[in-house]
Amino acid sequence: MVYIRSNEEIEIIRKSALMVSATLTEVAKFLKPGITTLSIDKMAEAFIRDNGGVPSFKGYGGFPYSLCISVNEVVVHGMPGSHVLKDGDIISVDCGVFMNNYHGDSAYTFAVGEVKPEVLKLLRDTKESLYRGIAQAHDGNRIGDISFAVEDFTARQNGYGVVRELVGHGVGRKLHEDPQVPNFGRKGDGKKIRAGQVLAIEPMINLGVKEVYTLSDKWTVVTKDGKPSAHFEHTTAVRKDKGEPLSSFAPIEAAEKANAELNSAHYEAAMAH
Ligand code: MG
Ligand code: MG
Repeated sequence: MVYIRSNEEIEIIRKSALMVSATLTEVAKFLKPGITTLSIDKMAEAFIRDNGGVPSFKGYGGFPYSLCISVNEVVVHGMPGSHVLKDGDIISVDCGVFMNNYHGDSAYTFAVGEVKPEVLKLLRDTKESLYRGIAQAHDGNRIGDISFAVEDFTARQNGYGVVRELVGHGVGRKLHEDPQVPNFGRKGDGKKIRAGQVLAIEPMINLGVKEVYTLSDKWTVVTKDGKPSAHFEHTTAVRKDKGEPLSSFAPIEAAEKANAELNSAHYEAAMAH
């Protein structure tokens, strides 16, 4: 069952999606080497509840946390815990918020401290592939047009592995609705999309091979070759000419920039002494 949302409903979904963005912005400010992934989850859950939301993931299919936190070679569905972040890690943070009977869903991969250039490029390119997919999320196009745009930029043009086992999805009253939105496919394939549909588009892109497997905890998905993986996701409204992201990375990117400036100021102050 595919839903066409009214503009009023889309505005309600936007509120949930922007609460996810606000939560991920708090994560950006909170992140530093030496903290545990569990401390991030606790901070985020308190932030969501203080702002009148409910974490969509907590209890979903038995998942016990508010965020999925996936470090380095973990692709998605990483469980927050006692893992201590270190300089050079990347972490993909996936968050859902339920408010006013609708979900928002968005994910962002953060660099912790100084990250290798090839890994930073993976983050940039995965984010770019998300926007290329969103550009195809317009009325009259097909799901395969979104899928192709993501795969073409990541696998064909940049040689990355595109995860096949996990896909994007419709999002609304339920966290996961039809249709599925794969990150690989052919132009013109799949179901037609219509203005008013709301899709979570979410490329999961590996630096190495595309193959992944799930750990014995039955949640944590990791790359087969142990190389890092990135994940960016926007809740996206299908519109007449292109998709419109309802979540926003702008406040997250501003927080990342402020962190970088603070760190370089600290570095220069240390050098001056
Ligand atoms: Mg998500
Ligand atoms: Mg999702």
